Amino acid sequence: MERVYNFSPGPSILPLPVLKKASAEMLDAYGSGQSIMEMSHRSKDFKPVIEGAENLLRSLLGIPEEYTVLFLQGGASLQFSMVPINLAGTESGSGQKKAAFVDTGVWAGKAIDEAKKYVDVRVLASSKDKNYSYIPAAPAPEKDDVYYHICLNNTIVGTKWHTLPPVGDVPLVADVSSCILSEPLDVSRFGLLYAGAQKNLGPAGCTVVIIRKDLITQAPSWTPTMLRYDIHAKEKSLYNTPPCWSIYIIYLVLQWISETGGLEAMGERNRKKAGILYDALEKSSLFYSPVEKASRSLMNIPFVIREKDEAKKKTIEEKFLKEAAENGMINLAGHRLVGGLRASIYNAMPLEGVDKLVSFIEKFEKKV
Ligand SMILES: *Cc1c(COP(=O)(O)O)cnc(C)c1O
Repeated sequence: MERVYNFSPGPSILPLPVLKKASAEMLDAYGSGQSIMEMSHRSKDFKPVIEGAENLLRSLLGIPEEYTVLFLQGGASLQFSMVPINLAGTESGSGQKKAAFVDTGVWAGKAIDEAKKYVDVRVLASSKDKNYSYIPAAPAPEKDDVYYHICLNNTIVGTKWHTLPPVGDVPLVADVSSCILSEPLDVSRFGLLYAGAQKNLGPAGCTVVIIRKDLITQAPSWTPTMLRYDIHAKEKSLYNTPPCWSIYIIYLVLQWISETGGLEAMGERNRKKAGILYDALEKSSLFYSPVEKASRSLMNIPFVIREKDEAKKKTIEEKFLKEAAENGMINLAGHRLVGGLRASIYNAMPLEGVDKLVSFIEKFEKKV
């Protein structure tokens, strides 16, 4: 069967050269006579994989020395708990310390709800008034805010912070699950970054955390050991068995990014891809982007049908999804909470995939 163009928001498309390399090494990784999946995570064969992944991530993103890189499990969702517990948790367990948040949609909202169990959450701004179709103006934090949390790229609504909020000395914490490595990022502006792997890094199962070392302090004594950054940092992500296979694929993805020109080149390709799709939506008589221009994501591009009658709209959407799939373009439905359509065009989506989608859109709207 021919490979499809997969516009899924996650788990999502992986670079073809990575899949080919992984399949070639499936039975015998690095001449060890075994698969990565069968190896001890403490073996001499796996050590270069986890260390190689960390080193390459450090060099691609320019991660300064004073940051620790962790390969954890539990998805980005577990970071919604680990961040408040480790950075602002108290022995009495309830929110005595304050933290600032900006509400830009579902994932930012989940981070807020989870943090409320441990800290005194202050929501500084929200774009809920317009269905999260923009990034709100972000006020400065207060001096006693322990950290300031944002979701840098909002996967479901397709918005992105193009300028960071004015946090001063308060550590900025960002969920970068759906935009990590899509373009250069100045890590030194953040206290902590986290990303579930299954959007832009590799397969599900691993979460990358990049944390400034001074923020790794002892969590409250009630904290489950597996949720403590200090333990994972001390054990170099090998406190228990890490997601070895996922880390290995991340390593291959990082090599692929490096071989294709690094993050500058990646950013250029992503701006070009997104530009082509946004232009097509701008010209379209049938579809439009519901997102304010200044807040648009490079990775997740929702689009909506210009039709007031909900039933008619639904019928056109279904026809679009069906015909797109017949033409080898899958997973173009919007998130179940917001509906509509959405193309996720992560790093691994080639330009040809976007070109094909754009010509399909042009043909489709002529027929409808
Ligand atoms: C997908 C996603 C999540 C959830 O990730 P899990 O790894 O499934 O927990 C959180 N934040 C953002 C921005 C996402 O895109």
